[in-house]
This record gives sequence, C-alpha cells and structure tokens, in this order.
Amino acid sequence: IRGVAEMAITSEASLEQHRETAAEIVEACDELLVMVNSMLAISEMESGVARLDAQPVDCAGLVADTCELFEPATEDRGVKLSVEAPGLALVSGDRPRLQQAVANLLDNAIKYTAAGGAIHVKVAIEGGDVVVSVQDTGVGIAGGDLPHIFERFYRADHSRSKPGNGLGLGLVRGIVKMHGGRVEVSSVVGQGTAFSLHLPALVEGRRGQQAMSAQRGRNLGD
Ligand code: ADP
Repeated sequence: IRGVAEMAITSEASLEQHRETAAEIVEACDELLVMVNSMLAISEMESGVARLDAQPVDCAGLVADTCELFEPATEDRGVKLSVEAPGLALVSGDRPRLQQAVANLLDNAIKYTAAGGAIHVKVAIEGGDVVVSVQDTGVGIAGGDLPHIFERFYRADHSRSKPGNGLGLGLVRGIVKMHGGRVEVSSVVGQGTAFSLHLPALVEGRRGQQAMSAQRGRNLGD
C-alpha cells in the first residue's frame, strides 16, 4: 500500500489514473482492516477477554436470514443453496457473532464449490445441542490439511488462487468456543466438505430463564 501511494506522489499520471490508484489503496486498506480486526477478535476470544452479550437467539431464524444475504452470491456462482430448519432452535448467545460464524462457513462453501455444485445448510436439535451444519459439494480438504485449517493464516494449497486471509475458521472456532460449543468438520477430496457448529441449546421455560440470568450476571462480572 505504501509503495503504491509513494509512486502516486511522484508520478505524472492523469487525474483519472490517480483516482484509480486511490481506489486500489482504499480496497487494500479495507482488506488490511478486516485482517487486523479478525486477529484482534480471535485474540480476545482465545484469551477470554471478549464479552458474550448473551440473549436468546433462534438459530433457525438466524440461518434463514444469513442464507438470504448469500443468495445473490450463490446465484452469481451458479451454486444451488438449500436450507432446512425446524421452527425454533434457541441458544443463549450473541447474535451478530453467531451470524458471523455461519456467514464465514457459507462464504467458504461458496468460494470452494465450483459452478453446478450445491450447498445445504441445516439446523437441527440433537440431544442438548442446536447443530448448524453447512455442507458443500466443493473441492474438499485433504486429510493432511484438516488438523490445521483452524490455525491462524493456514491456507491449504487449493486456496492459494482464491481470495482470503486464513483467519475465517479461526474466528468461527473462537465464536463457537465462547458459546460453550464445538466445531466439527468432515471432508472428502473432490466430493465436498461439511462443517457443523454444536451449540448448547437454550432450555425453554424457567430453567432457560435461569440460565439466561446467570449468563447476564457473568457478563456484568458478578
Ligand atoms: P480462507 O480465508 O483461506 O478461506 P479460512 O480460515 O476460512 O481461510 O479457511 C482455512 C482453509 O480451510 C482455507 O484456506 C481452505 O484451504 C480450507 N477450507 C475452509 N472451508 C473450506 C471448504 N468449504 N471447502 C474446501 N476447503 C475449505
């Protein structure tokens, strides 16, 4: 960024060319900001400094809203997106953060699935967990890469030609962990990948209310 800006200072280029350079600089700054903010967020979550603003969140609604946001991207890419969700799947959590986790998984599924492929997003209640899964028919992840994909900046060979910074899954794991949950992944090269977020379900009624107020108490530092 600095090099391009320095060259622009001394260059005799036209106003139009200078504007194009400025636009490139803005875009590069935005990417850098996203990277710095992601690193900060991961560090805060991993060190336990991040605060969970816990409210009852319906994962079925959250997934429906997130998928709607991604419809134009899947259409552009020629990938079919389907959603399967029960009426209500409540967890105690921070909606924007949970939405970011689902969005990161969807973003990857779109990025690593070729035209003609499909993405299936499912919300289910299994035992005491709400499980949100994102399954694609994309390139898949090699067995040797699987243990590393949640590490900061790790990108498998098949990703080098795609945009990204290798921080998306680190964020997903951080968000899910701070909600007391876990992330699972299974993949077959050439066939596709499935990620699932397992989050403790919010028990409705009095017990649920108690869990919520206990969480609020923790947030206030009680
Ligand atoms: P990136 O910005 O590179 O997508 P992520 O942290 O989101 O970073 O993912 C880490 C790596 O895991 C990716 O570079 C890619 O190699 C692999 N990966 C993640 N999701 C998928 C997927 N749905 N299909 C294939 N590979 C994936």
